[in-house]
Amino acid sequence: MQADPTTAYRTVLARIAAAAGGAGVDPSTVRLLAVSKAKPAAAIRTLAQAGQRAFGENYLQEAAAKIDALADLALEWHFIGHLQSNKCGEVARRFDWVQSVDRPRLVALLSAARTPDRPLNVLVQVNIDDEASKSGCAPADLPALAAAVASAPGLRLRGLMAIPAPAQDPARRRAAFAAMRGLFEALRRDHPDVDTLSMGMSEDFELAIAEGATMVRVGTALFGARPAASG
Ligand SMILES: *Cc1c(COP(=O)(O)O)cnc(C)c1O
Repeated sequence: MQADPTTAYRTVLARIAAAAGGAGVDPSTVRLLAVSKAKPAAAIRTLAQAGQRAFGENYLQEAAAKIDALADLALEWHFIGHLQSNKCGEVARRFDWVQSVDRPRLVALLSAARTPDRPLNVLVQVNIDDEASKSGCAPADLPALAAAVASAPGLRLRGLMAIPAPAQDPARRRAAFAAMRGLFEALRRDHPDVDTLSMGMSEDFELAIAEGATMVRVGTALFGARPAASG
């Protein structure tokens, strides 16, 4: 539980900087995405006033209300939840990034809602080791899906996102992050402009940074625990 999100924010930023330093990378190259699902607009506003700009949301209706309530702030919104095809149009219009593109059908639906002068930033979500999860493309399907995103006129391919299986021992989790780094390096050979590897959450973001994450998605460590039903 965090009583003061501003204090928690400074602590998380310091931990990111320390982990980046330990990994030998410039701390400014690791971005923090503040995951605000199940948290009120007022909590987002407090963090924005402390300097945070990028926020992640999982559910369109919940996010839309907060995006409207905070329209006076120049925030950057990332959709990180499971994406249904019938929501693609509104997600593409309301969000700046979508991190959960995991099947070819979503590509044209998202692209159609944007224009080439204002493309939607896209990460392809990879199912790196969680056989129970229905989200994320198989690593074998990644090259074709990434190529489809890269050639869609309304989209800009920025990189990869992963959510490793929960409740793993640290060695297995580290292996999943390392496998993502390998996929990211291979992707960059085909798409040199790609710059974002989104992995690591409250429990393991330092480990993810050690394995090359350029964006970590942190909710609980910033805002405190969520009600169990909200995931
Ligand atoms: C909820 C969520 C997070 C943040 O998880 P915490 O453990 O609260 O930091 C990160 N990424 C995704 C995709 C999420 O759904």
